[in-house]
Amino acid sequence: MAVLINFKICDNAEECSGIEVCPTGALAWDKVNETIVIDNEKCISCGMCEKECPIGAIRVAHDENEYNEIKKEIDDDSRNTKDLFVDRYGAAGISDFFKIEKDEIADKIKKDCLTLIEVYNLDFAECLLKSIPIKELTKDFPDDTLYYKADVDEDFKDYEVSELPALLIFKNNELLGHIDGYYNIDSKNDMLEKIKNVVNK
Ligand code: SF4
Repeated sequence: MAVLINFKICDNAEECSGIEVCPTGALAWDKVNETIVIDNEKCISCGMCEKECPIGAIRVAHDENEYNEIKKEIDDDSRNTKDLFVDRYGAAGISDFFKIEKDEIADKIKKDCLTLIEVYNLDFAECLLKSIPIKELTKDFPDDTLYYKADVDEDFKDYEVSELPALLIFKNNELLGHIDGYYNIDSKNDMLEKIKNVVNK
């Protein structure tokens, strides 16, 4: 039926994995205008592109109602690619202030405020692509909450972390808990619930 792209948050890159998996050519890269183009005449609503998009920018509608609902969601979406950059790569990704080394973690967790440290691996592209949308998830946290990002080895197992990226939550030098692995934008409420459970336990 139709595919829609939320260009407010889409990287709009030639390497789009949705283009790669589309079996009909409904999604393609326009070299002249340097943008992803959609040909809904060709779209069979198979949903493959939607599954591939790590940030939920590609949405597939199966009927007109769904199309209108998705379109409205996109129209109402107040995010932009700048937010996405910050969410996915962390404010730390663009400000050295938040970036710490693995060895610095022990020093950063001594304060009595909440301290959140996202551990990730820079060489592990999948990890970067699937970073934690931490800015949005913690917007209601106390103002004195501290936030850092630490680039760690791919096989990082400290604090019993099982998968990167992981969010370590500390208070007063004590590890309250951690949430491992990627949560995409659709499951952010699950992650927020987990963070709250860790913080409030
Ligand atoms: S839903 Fe299927 S056919 Fe339509 S654009 Fe996505 S991958 Fe291509």
